Amino acid sequence: MAQHFLLSAGSRTLSLRSIYKAGEDAAYQTFCEMRWPETDGEAVCPCCGFDEAYKITTRRKFKCKACHHQFSVTSGTIFASRKMDFVDLLAAICIIVNASKGVSMVQLSRDLDCQYKTAFVLAHKLREAMAMEVHTGEVLEGHVEIDGAYFGGHIRPENAKADRKDRRLKEHQTGKRRVVIVMRERAGRTLPTVAMNEGEGVALAQENVSRTATMSADEASHWDMLHAGWNVDRVNHSEIYSDHGKHTNMAESFFSRLRRMVEGQHHHVSPQYLHQYANHAAWLEDNRRTDNGTLAQIVVSNAMGAPVSRNWKGYWQRAA
Ligand SMILES: [Zn+2]
Repeated sequence: MAQHFLLSAGSRTLSLRSIYKAGEDAAYQTFCEMRWPETDGEAVCPCCGFDEAYKITTRRKFKCKACHHQFSVTSGTIFASRKMDFVDLLAAICIIVNASKGVSMVQLSRDLDCQYKTAFVLAHKLREAMAMEVHTGEVLEGHVEIDGAYFGGHIRPENAKADRKDRRLKEHQTGKRRVVIVMRERAGRTLPTVAMNEGEGVALAQENVSRTATMSADEASHWDMLHAGWNVDRVNHSEIYSDHGKHTNMAESFFSRLRRMVEGQHHHVSPQYLHQYANHAAWLEDNRRTDNGTLAQIVVSNAMGAPVSRNWKGYWQRAA
């Protein structure tokens, strides 16, 4: 039997050992090269685009020779106002891309000896960088599976049977319940969205699935509407999971990763952040055969090209 990809040497091109051995200056140089690939890491002014700058080496800052604007390698990116050393930042990225089911923020803050809040904000910023690759705006092609799964709003059953409520009833739910709807190309991308009910998936398919594609869905009646737009394979999950190639197994494997991530690592996920975890799981699914060095590079270069994160900049200061 072929060796699992994650066990092969080819999947390991970046390690914590190599990051810390190379040290802070090398990590800083890595960020410069990712930010300014077109000049091999030489600073380019974010204000006017001029590519010559004075180096203020002691503070790792630059001053543009044309417009005198002062900036750093992270100015204007989601890593602006970072509090970590570059070597720790790179290590955090390594730990996060290495975790195929995600990693809890308590664990990350212990591994890096940083505050929980620092780890929490950093991880969410990295998920934004991943989301840029997941939500490209391009329509899905080929054969596309669609399915939904509910997350959150769980009510703990009472200890004594007499006190228990019927948790299936809407009035006994917490209002935090959401459905993640996923559309997944058999040969490509995974596109998740968070909604209130699974039926919203029909409108999502109309927006995101090419009219020349074909689709698969389960027996749930709201998917009947899909037949108006596409040739749809239906599979009745109460009878069979895969019927002569008719299945939604790719969508199911996305949900299984997301569930392991949410329930196994994060334990409790607010509906407000559920889409971030869904994007993270989709990104991991789509890159499951990419080596970890390349994964880190993808995340960092997306993050360096991304504008300052409005959601997370000064998050705790605002929340406090
Ligand atoms: Zn300038």
